[in-house]
Amino acid sequence: MAGYLLARAGVPVIVLEKHADFFRDFRGDTIHPSTLELMYELGLLDEFLKQPHQEVRELRALVNGHSVPLADFTKLPTRCKFIAFMPQWDFLNFLSMKAKQFPDFRLLMQHEVVDLTFDQQRVTGVRAKTARGELQIRADLVIGADGRHSIVQARAGLERQEFGAPIDVLWMRISKKQNDPQQSFGFFQHGKLLVLLDRGDYWQCGFVIPKGGFDEIKTRRLKQFQNEILTFAAFLRDRVAELDDWSKIKLLTVQINRLRDWCRDGLLCVGDSAHAMSPAGGVGINLAIQDAVATANLLAEKLRNGAVSVDDLRKLQARREWPTRLIQAMQVFIHRRVVTGQTLRGKNSLPILFRLLKWFPVLRQIPARFIGIGPRPEHYWSRGR
Ligand SMILES: Cc1cc2nc3c(=O)[nH]c(=O)nc-3n(C[C@H](O)[C@H](O)[C@H](O)COP(=O)(O)OP(=O)(O)OC[C@H]3O[C@@H](n4cnc5c(N)ncnc54)[C@H](O)[C@@H]3O)c2cc1C
Repeated sequence: MAGYLLARAGVPVIVLEKHADFFRDFRGDTIHPSTLELMYELGLLDEFLKQPHQEVRELRALVNGHSVPLADFTKLPTRCKFIAFMPQWDFLNFLSMKAKQFPDFRLLMQHEVVDLTFDQQRVTGVRAKTARGELQIRADLVIGADGRHSIVQARAGLERQEFGAPIDVLWMRISKKQNDPQQSFGFFQHGKLLVLLDRGDYWQCGFVIPKGGFDEIKTRRLKQFQNEILTFAAFLRDRVAELDDWSKIKLLTVQINRLRDWCRDGLLCVGDSAHAMSPAGGVGINLAIQDAVATANLLAEKLRNGAVSVDDLRKLQARREWPTRLIQAMQVFIHRRVVTGQTLRGKNSLPILFRLLKWFPVLRQIPARFIGIGPRPEHYWSRGR
């Protein structure tokens, strides 16, 4: 998104992606109302919504057997009053296709950044591994948008604060049938959580486990694991045996951390590279996109004329840090209290938080706003040449 916006504003951009395609399973599928608003501001919304997606206007969960509405997006002050569920590879393919229309945009697939180059203390570019050997690229600014295992951040020597995430996620597919019940979110049961994402002909399943617990789970029989899935979603009984090998169940490690400094001379980190997000609340993608919009708004004009100063980069951190802090604090709270804590442990009981959401529809607008728009939403205002 940062590459798209900067190129649109007339800044020459090279985006390096280490994989051959965007077909990764692990990043979440949610396109939030604020991102859809951005697509509108960019004049891309109508075409974007023609891509296959599901529109979710209300998030519901099954909590200890009770169906609870969690968030109501229909009252949001945005054009699209829903979350669009779209596999992230479709979203990235769409965006990169649009970006390639700008003469200043280049996307180099299978280019893995392996190091930074320096001139004394200033970052001057990257070294990348390609199928044809190593390549050096010089840049006025390197933007680390390489996710939660960021090599850019590590090579820049930026200090990271860890906040601990007591969970990991097991990620697997189970086929979908036409008469399956409509699902939009998840099943909470006695401190455990299963999320089902509708991907058309299959369910993408995310099963939350205690951190580091996968090895212990694997010492049990696969059948036992299948049965555990069924305690959440019995309608999968005739298909759960598709999970017939542990290799079909992938472990996704969850982290929450944040850099003290998101930048140094010649380099800026954004998205998970600056602040790794947990899946809790499903807001990491939105936050990363908001960082990208703020980057383009604050830096595009200066970058058109060359390098930017560290002070310019710090302004970006100053703008985006507090929304990040707020969301990460919320994620830590959800981990401690809702997912791994006592809140959901009572057998068949419905904790007070969920009762309130059930009784007072107006309260569902609070999580809707937090998830759908987030604190300090960004609007695109940088202009091209
Ligand atoms: C299990 C799980 C589920 C999640 N579900 C959701 C959800 O439903 N909704 C939500 O909003 N958030 C979700 N999140 C959080 C969300 O995935 C992240 O916050 C978001 O993807 C961050 O975007 P990003 O662009 O910063 O990083 P990423 O999405 O991780 O993208 C980084 C990109 O950089 C590339 N890359 C990495 N290293 C290099 C390198 N050395 N050279 C070149 N390219 C490189 C990667 O291939 C990738 O394309 C989830 C997180 C987890 C762990």
